[in-house]
Amino acid sequence: MKIKMILPALTEAESPLWRPIKYTLFPPLGLATLAAFLSSDDEIDLQDQHVEQLRLDDAPDLVMIQVYITNAFRAYRIADHYRRKGCYVILGGLHVTSLPDEALAHADSIFIGPGEDTFPRFLADFKKRAPQRVYTSDNRTLAGIPPIRRDLIKRHLYLVPNSIVVTRGCPHHCNFCYKDAFFEGGKTFYTQLVDEALAEINRLPGRHLYFLDDHLLGNAKFAESLFEGMRGMNRVFQGASTVDAILRGNLIEKAADAGLRSLFVGFETFSSKNLKQSNKKQNLEKDYTKAVDRLHSLGIMINGSFVFGLDDDDGDVFKRTVDWGVNHGITTATYHILTPYPGTALYRSMEVDGRILTRDWDRYDTRHVVYKTKTLTAQELEAGYWWAYNTFYSWQNIVKSSLYHDSVKHIGKHFLYTGGWKKFEPLWNFMIKTGGLNSMLPLLESILSQVKPQKSGGNVLPHSEKELVGLVD
Ligand code: SF4
Repeated sequence: MKIKMILPALTEAESPLWRPIKYTLFPPLGLATLAAFLSSDDEIDLQDQHVEQLRLDDAPDLVMIQVYITNAFRAYRIADHYRRKGCYVILGGLHVTSLPDEALAHADSIFIGPGEDTFPRFLADFKKRAPQRVYTSDNRTLAGIPPIRRDLIKRHLYLVPNSIVVTRGCPHHCNFCYKDAFFEGGKTFYTQLVDEALAEINRLPGRHLYFLDDHLLGNAKFAESLFEGMRGMNRVFQGASTVDAILRGNLIEKAADAGLRSLFVGFETFSSKNLKQSNKKQNLEKDYTKAVDRLHSLGIMINGSFVFGLDDDDGDVFKRTVDWGVNHGITTATYHILTPYPGTALYRSMEVDGRILTRDWDRYDTRHVVYKTKTLTAQELEAGYWWAYNTFYSWQNIVKSSLYHDSVKHIGKHFLYTGGWKKFEPLWNFMIKTGGLNSMLPLLESILSQVKPQKSGGNVLPHSEKELVGLVD
């Protein structure tokens, strides 16, 4: 059987305003995971439009397309194209799960929720020529799933080919997050078997790993065993977690021992009203500064995530947020305009209140205002969002935040990582165009090398100034 797997480009990835490097980081792991359920006789062509020109002149037996909100319209056009040719088209992913009726109009079958249980069921039905229209995941387990078909991934086209996911979902329930919608009807957080996760890690060449799990420390027992198993593997890795998990117990020390060198942390907002509005209970009354200092004391760099536009935000929120990040030595910041994704509790409540302004999914990219704001106008919100990015990543602030750290090595790492990520666009574009992106990996690995643990806290700002913004995230 001939199978075409497609990840269509997100709309923002092709906009002249956007940075190609941001969309050539990770390979399409979800599709490669499902490809493992196909037979070794099958001819599989996996295409990622972020890194290659899509070829649409073929006529495979089966076309599988992964749909996110901002590639949805493009995905539907590709699906319609193949259906006109008589190919069997299946759609799955976050957006399909959120809006199954919309997706069904463009597909022969759709998949709701994760595909590890439903895709094998579909394949059996497809072989019997009796596939169903809708497959809904209800049996959630990762035990014994076949190894990801990494041979289908064009590694040289990605900066971070060694991305890996060892859990699914998250134990929390933030109201703006897709997580609850995607995992509805079954377990919403579950892990691989530790041995299978370690075996997957062992199969990956080189030193660097990027865990794409929503919350790598979400199951302490699993994470502890994983980190124990990784000690001595000589890996350096990046991942994501939450403020409360950083502050609780000593799991973060174990992660650092195993090679954790940079962590994505969802601070989101400094306002407790905003946290309550977002049902982000795990951040309530948590000492953000303490979490940051703990990570820095272990030599772990921080990518802080922040959301603008929650109902308690005022005109100062942009400056307050940027200043806090700079003054606390946050390595990189990811800012978002609040976006009510369909299927989420936030979307439902905004819909009830008549606050949804558009259903043009291309604009749901966290850079546009798509809902009626309360305290800020849409113009103020979008202007503030851009101001925050430009200000945080000014050379002056990159230098200032780098100097937060005590050790010279940590200062150097911070400066190179942030400056390299944001200030050398022509170099990144050149490497992408010449297909040499993957050759930058040794440099990334050396920037992520270990720094000696430093004493808690940085060396630039007086304590009172650090506390200026109070308890935050
Ligand atoms: S902690 Fe992160 S992944 Fe978990 S529900 Fe909240 S936003 Fe989603």
